[in-house]
Amino acid sequence: MSEETEEAPPDVHHYQDRSEVPWDIQNYWAQRYKIFSKFDEGIWLTDDAWFGVTPEPVANKIAEHMASSAPAGCSILIDAFAGAGGNTIAFAKSGRWKRVYGIEKDHSVLQCAKHNAKIYGVQDKITWFEGDCFEILRNQLKVLAPYSAIFASPPWGGPGYRSDDVFNLRKMEPYSLQFLRSEFSLFTENMVLYLPRTSNLKQLAMEVKDDKKVMVMHYCMETSSKALCVYYGGFNMQ
Ligand code: ADP
Repeated sequence: MSEETEEAPPDVHHYQDRSEVPWDIQNYWAQRYKIFSKFDEGIWLTDDAWFGVTPEPVANKIAEHMASSAPAGCSILIDAFAGAGGNTIAFAKSGRWKRVYGIEKDHSVLQCAKHNAKIYGVQDKITWFEGDCFEILRNQLKVLAPYSAIFASPPWGGPGYRSDDVFNLRKMEPYSLQFLRSEFSLFTENMVLYLPRTSNLKQLAMEVKDDKKVMVMHYCMETSSKALCVYYGGFNMQ
């Protein structure tokens, strides 16, 4: 299908003007070029996806850090919760990976990611999977584990996520830290988790065995932390 005739699913939008934007997204609308610098080229988002996209400068920085610190034998990047494609596109743009795999369970959101990757000219570098990342990793991508790095930006929610100074990762919903670590256990040597900036660092440290290391990096924009990334295992962060 050509770019001109490509039709967005009914719950996908490219808003052109503030007056079209639902009230709860208006704050995000002001930041649209931070979210996607090519927004005006026709970026697609579902209304929910606005809240979850990693802003482009942060996505680029993470992609740069992962590219420079991943072990040499690691040639595949799996983005387990691709959303509308912010991180996946940045990984593909980095040029470090032989192949980037993006998994997303929501059909409309996945359509956004595919469309947005075209706008950034990286669609040929990405293989998309529609479905549950845990099942897809278990059933289709398990064999890639020795050559892969996994990046996971899970949904952020749970009691106290917005109100508590320190966020309890054991209560993160719908997937707790323990659940993610166990589901991704084949990949934990080369794993990066993207978590709320208030995440409980003690809980992260308790997961780490004596001879292993973990590195936590805050990603900031305009003097405030947007999120943190936890780099496990093989990543050689300087
Ligand atoms: P947030 O807005 O906090 O980033 P979301 O609930 O929007 O979180 O989740 C992020 C993305 O991950 C969404 O696009 C959602 O559809 C997707 N997602 C959630 N669970 C899974 C899963 N098990 N497998 C694949 N994608 C998932």
